[in-house]
Amino acid sequence: MARPWNFSAGPSAMPEPVLAQAAAEMLDWQGSGMSVMEMSHRGEHFIQICSQAEADLRELLAVSDDYAVLFMQGGATAENAIVPMNLLGRVSQPKADFVISGIWATKSHQECQRYGDAQIAATNAVATTIDGVHQAPFTWLPKADTWRVRKDAAYLHLCSNETIGGVETVDWPDMQALGAPDVPLVVDASSHFLSRPMQINRAGMIFAGAQKNAGPAGLTMVIVRRELIGHALAICPSAFDYKNVDAQHSMYNTPPTYAIYIAGLVFKWLKQQGGLAAIEQRNIVKARTLYDYFDQSAFYTLPVHPSVRSRMNVPFFLCNTSLDSAFLKGAQERGLMQLKGHKSVGGMRASIYNAMPLEGVEALIDYLKDFERTHG
Ligand SMILES: *Cc1c(COP(=O)(O)O)cnc(C)c1O
Repeated sequence: MARPWNFSAGPSAMPEPVLAQAAAEMLDWQGSGMSVMEMSHRGEHFIQICSQAEADLRELLAVSDDYAVLFMQGGATAENAIVPMNLLGRVSQPKADFVISGIWATKSHQECQRYGDAQIAATNAVATTIDGVHQAPFTWLPKADTWRVRKDAAYLHLCSNETIGGVETVDWPDMQALGAPDVPLVVDASSHFLSRPMQINRAGMIFAGAQKNAGPAGLTMVIVRRELIGHALAICPSAFDYKNVDAQHSMYNTPPTYAIYIAGLVFKWLKQQGGLAAIEQRNIVKARTLYDYFDQSAFYTLPVHPSVRSRMNVPFFLCNTSLDSAFLKGAQERGLMQLKGHKSVGGMRASIYNAMPLEGVEALIDYLKDFERTHG
């Protein structure tokens, strides 16, 4: 049976060779006589799998030894609480600043309010006009030189790819240039993690749930500058204190072993593809091909300002929204799955992560053209 093209925002399509290898190794991982999911996390086989995954992730992203790489659970949503519980203790008054770029950053900001003074440094939650064109809330980004960051904040939070709104920050801000050199940047990179080389050194920490672009749900990857570790608030659960997780090499308690193994296979696959610089080139071509099609069409519209369009998540609308359900039904019949937009935005969304080849984007464009021809 042919696999359909899966445009889901997450959990999302996986590279097929990774699934094939996992299937081949399901009953017997490399002569061990057992499945990875049956192995003790303290045994030599799993320790080898986990340390190889960490080494490959470090190599892909060029992460230096100044940073700990942690494999955790709870998803990015749990990190919205785990981050403030770990970092607010660094400063005398628990405070943190937030760039509101969409729904995910808003959620992070709200959660932090439970632990301290969470202030908005900049927000796109309002409509604006750019070059005479109206932009709805969450479809544009305030320029970094307008952000107001408190010099004594424990950190500045940025969601560098808003999965729902489709707004991406490709250049992470330089905190020195923002006039807050002592404030570490914390980046929720969940939905474009490993889609391109990243400016790790600009960030104090980066976190990402695996299920968007790096593996199965259940694993959260945290990359954190070592000097930021060890200041957790007293209320922080010990299993979520980065100090404990780091000291035990992500084995303070039982980690999501099978998810780590699969993510490790994805890291190997990325290396075989030529690493992140090569995968970025492919992602640029995919995104450009799709956006170019939409830009020349009067039948579909794109909500996001061209300067901040995401390469990973492409929201779009049919100008005639009464055709939405016919569009989705026809797409599904052609094996184009999960194109329905997030309920808060409506319309459509195509997520084109690393595992989506150009061929899948072209299949989508063929359908977009046919639908426009028959309904336009
Ligand atoms: C999906 C997502 C989250 C939430 O992830 P969970 O695993 O459901 O907690 C947070 N931030 C971003 C940017 C996301 O894409």
